[in-house]
Amino acid sequence: MTGTITFTMIKPSAFSAGFTGNILARFEEGGYKIIALKKIFLTKEQAGQFYEMHQGKPFYEELTNFMSSGPIIAAILEKENAVESFRKFIGATDPAKADEGTIRKLYGKSLSENAVHGSDSDESAQREAGFFFSSLERS
Ligand code: ATP
Ligand code: MG
Repeated sequence: MTGTITFTMIKPSAFSAGFTGNILARFEEGGYKIIALKKIFLTKEQAGQFYEMHQGKPFYEELTNFMSSGPIIAAILEKENAVESFRKFIGATDPAKADEGTIRKLYGKSLSENAVHGSDSDESAQREAGFFFSSLERS
């Protein structure tokens, strides 16, 4: 391994809009190496498990409904300082507040439909990568 990992998803709205190819190309252009990759359609229960740290928050219901509304792309990415650099690379949670040139500015529609997910810590990255991928899929 030449760096650390982060976990990302291309969310249902961006996937259904046909942005997958462009977004993956931007990840690679940004120096992120794809370690694992799959398309998957989460149940509401699985989306709820993935976002369990937000359980009880006012947006939890909307978030888990949205994340189980259509297929997503899940991926593990590797780069030096991957978690922190990727959060900057994708931009602020609300696309309206994201910097020019970031993924969420380019492909996000709203606070909920913000195109992509990015892990918020190394611990989260490990948990999230393990939630979606077996060791065989990330070798
Ligand atoms: P993500 O975890 O998806 O990468 P994030 O780490 O930038 O996003 P979180 O605070 O973890 O933001 O929130 C998870 C998701 O919940 C956000 O991506 C967003 O779609 C949604 N969300 C967060 N805050 C709000 C809010 N105040 N109102 C509606 N939706 C929200
Ligand atoms: Mg988060």
